[in-house]
Amino acid sequence: MTNERNSLFDISGKVAVITGAGGVLGGSIALSLMKAGVKVVATDIRQENLDARVAELKQIHQDVIGVVSNVLDLDSLKELAGIVKEKFGRIDILVNCAGGNVPGATLREDQNVFDMKIEDWEKVTNLNTNGTVYPCLAFGEVMAAQGAGSIINISSMATYSAITRVPGYSVSKSGINIFTQWLATEMALKFGEKVRVNALAPGFFIGDQNRAVLINPDGSYTERSVKVLARTPMKRFGDISELNGAIQFLCSDAASFITGVILPVDGGFTAFSGV
Ligand code: NAD
Repeated sequence: MTNERNSLFDISGKVAVITGAGGVLGGSIALSLMKAGVKVVATDIRQENLDARVAELKQIHQDVIGVVSNVLDLDSLKELAGIVKEKFGRIDILVNCAGGNVPGATLREDQNVFDMKIEDWEKVTNLNTNGTVYPCLAFGEVMAAQGAGSIINISSMATYSAITRVPGYSVSKSGINIFTQWLATEMALKFGEKVRVNALAPGFFIGDQNRAVLINPDGSYTERSVKVLARTPMKRFGDISELNGAIQFLCSDAASFITGVILPVDGGFTAFSGV
């Protein structure tokens, strides 16, 4: 009985591509998938971070490669999909972690929306929108041909109601939600029920992209952090490892009838009215 239940969540032997694997959340997800026996293709635009990540992942097992890659370059992503197929024979999982805010696109306290530089708006919406859409096209095409695969996009709390100061980030992550639903529908209708597309909407985790707005240089919480925690029933930030269970669930047979969902992992932030 126990074995039967556990096998539902078994993802060993699968092949996963993780974008943004040099970052905080992508790194933790890569480690967790490796520990579950998955073969991992770790990609990131930053060579140095990727090298460090791959060295860490190799301590778990040797079925891992690191490839520097830009999620905004569709041709090179398609080339990478070919390399992965050649090396591992298939692609079962895609986790789209590359993304985040860009410094100039976060309005300072003393700015308003009319101060926003249009170049920064374009940078952040391009990175988060196309940086998810392009990998879905490059690696999703392999899954469609296989008639099986699981894509997991990364959305945000900034898609349920307005979070001040981050207009471009919020708009592009909201785009990821509808693209997730749209692609889930397209894949199931045209390529079969085994190609599933879902998203996680992480609550507040401390990552490189948001550290400066959540933590003061002296390590104390910023005023914004205090507001976030006041709206989080669990009264804490997420630990980066707390996305891993949801990832394993969504790409396992335990989620075989689940596609097109945006799953919050947020300590109750979206559930709570604040009152
Ligand atoms: P992070 O900055 O630590 O990692 C993001 C990674 O993406 C970095 O390693 C970066 O080099 C890489 N990257 C950036 N541009 C790229 C490009 N063009 N091509 C390839 N790689 C590129 O951020 P994180 O906290 O790990 O966040 C990962 C994802 O989760 C992001 O999409 C972010 O928006 C989302 N998210 C994070 C939080 C949080 O609280 N940390 C909350 C909600 C959503």
